Amino acid sequence: MMNSRLFTQLKSRPTVFSHHTSWLPRLDTIFLCRTYTHTTTRTKHSISPLASRQLHNMADDAPDGGGPLPNPGVGPGSADKYPKELEWQTRPPYRVVSRDEFGEVKWKGGCHCGRVTYELNREQPLKAKYCHCRGCQIVHGAPFQWAAIFPKSDISFTNGSDGLAFYASDRKTTKYELPTKVSCAYCRTPIMDEGRNMCLLFPGTIHFGDSEEDHQAWKKAFEISCHIFYGQRSLDIPDGKQKWSGMDENSDLVDDYGKEI
Ligand SMILES: [Zn+2]
Ligand SMILES: [Zn+2]
Repeated sequence: MMNSRLFTQLKSRPTVFSHHTSWLPRLDTIFLCRTYTHTTTRTKHSISPLASRQLHNMADDAPDGGGPLPNPGVGPGSADKYPKELEWQTRPPYRVVSRDEFGEVKWKGGCHCGRVTYELNREQPLKAKYCHCRGCQIVHGAPFQWAAIFPKSDISFTNGSDGLAFYASDRKTTKYELPTKVSCAYCRTPIMDEGRNMCLLFPGTIHFGDSEEDHQAWKKAFEISCHIFYGQRSLDIPDGKQKWSGMDENSDLVDDYGKEI
């Protein structure tokens, strides 16, 4: 049994099985990295001597969090079961869904300690990227972040909302506020960044088989199409992939060595 003191205190997990209301996620979801856009967009040399101060000022430029979300998990008469601050448990990817509703499982994943597990019903993400922003370097303790975009309804936590911890980096709060970073509350493995409509899942947590064939299939499924915030990179990656100095589609395109093209 998990040590309940170490986990988010959630007395009950949602078990809502309501008819799925389809909704189309928008691709222009504001993700966590957008909070860094102001420091790098349209700058040729985005590693500024003010980087440290800007990082600390990020919260001042935070987008509004917690905007209205579609709420497919709550059926008529059930909304009052959940206090407002726990309504997120009734929405994808946290609400518990039936096998029939979720469909065929294409991938399974989980944290290092095994307490948090999830499933995906989509073979390939909409897009995968490496993010080199300072925030990702710090929060992940890594040279860059590897993230794969999935609509929220493609993901289902096998244990619902149990055992998760949140960190909304733009507001520096561990309260559940979007956008937020989602990790295992016990081993602290980063699982995903949750935006308003999409999740940026970290493919390193996805399980694949023991064979080389399985390994290659995993690599191929989550291969990146571009690098973002390459202006803040900790190393050059000469892979020939598209590179943006800041946010994709909203900054300068640069070559493998950061030179504007
Ligand atoms: Zn864990
Ligand atoms: Zn980032």
